[in-house]
Amino acid sequence: MHRRLTGFQPTGNLHLGNLIGAMRPLVAAQDRPSIAMIADLHALTMEHNPDAVRANTLTVATVLLAAGVDPQRTAIIAQSQVSEHTGLHYLLECVTGFGEAARMIQFKEKSAAGGPVRLSLLTYPVLMAADILLHDIDEVPVGEDQSQHLELARTIATRFNTRYGETFVVPEGVRPESAARIMDLADPSRKMSKSAPSPAGRIGLLDPPETIRKVIARAVTDTAGVVRHDREGQPGVTNLLEILRACSGRDPGELTSYGALKREVTDAVEAVLAPIRSRHAELSQDPSHVRKILAEGKAYVQPRAAETVRRARAAIGLLD
Ligand code: ATP
Ligand code: MG
Repeated sequence: MHRRLTGFQPTGNLHLGNLIGAMRPLVAAQDRPSIAMIADLHALTMEHNPDAVRANTLTVATVLLAAGVDPQRTAIIAQSQVSEHTGLHYLLECVTGFGEAARMIQFKEKSAAGGPVRLSLLTYPVLMAADILLHDIDEVPVGEDQSQHLELARTIATRFNTRYGETFVVPEGVRPESAARIMDLADPSRKMSKSAPSPAGRIGLLDPPETIRKVIARAVTDTAGVVRHDREGQPGVTNLLEILRACSGRDPGELTSYGALKREVTDAVEAVLAPIRSRHAELSQDPSHVRKILAEGKAYVQPRAAETVRRARAAIGLLD
């Protein structure tokens, strides 16, 4: 049985792309051992607000539950609460080249954005490798943005095993079941993102219906005037069609205008988000419940994690 890990950064408000691209595949794959990790340490690699990271960590956990992640089958953990992540991170740094980390596209892009660059941004993919190798994960659902990091994790695992003896499971990247990549509604050339500077193109999972209606009504389309699937020529309309299919489970019938398309999309999105919103409101009544779920997730994963660190320490030459 394959073990899977899916990560979510507590960097901002979760959006429809996170739901369709990551949470739903996670829920659909709950027959295999899975871990949903809230990557709070990764959220510290760029300028951050401590209160926001703490609050977002709890919100992501709550939204995962509201979206149907079953904590009896999927361990929900906060990365920092399982201290073995950082324990293994250091050991993996000792088999990773400076050049390998500095070559990562995401590091180059984010460090070129201006402002001081944190050393943790450089070593982020090494911590990501630790996240995966720690739990003997063999399947990681990755989108294109993470495929280079997954490749580095594989390189690190293989190198460690070759130099110091079989220690780690070498993970495979798999395409998420729903391959849909949801694009920004205001700029369909980029993906919908928590960290996009403007919320204009983002459908937040907890946004009020009126906000969502407005965002969809203002979604960028084109002047072709035909509702058709054409990612190159009509990226905005195609994105709306994909959202509609993902949310309603069906292809639209004959839609003759962009107005009609947007109304259908609004209804379909609302039908998917309304139950998540209300379940989230219910769960938020009792924050201690979410804390308890995280504590249980930690207790569940920790024995295996501790064993992996023990193996790695022994192999690399440290005293037990
Ligand atoms: P950030 O901008 O902070 O990187 P993000 O929106 O990219 O935030 P992540 O926390 O990096 O969100 O990713 C969480 C999960 O959601 C990952 O599995 C990622 O592949 C998936 N995901 C993120 N954005 C989209 C999207 N637009 N469409 C489909 N899946 C997405
Ligand atoms: Mg991301």
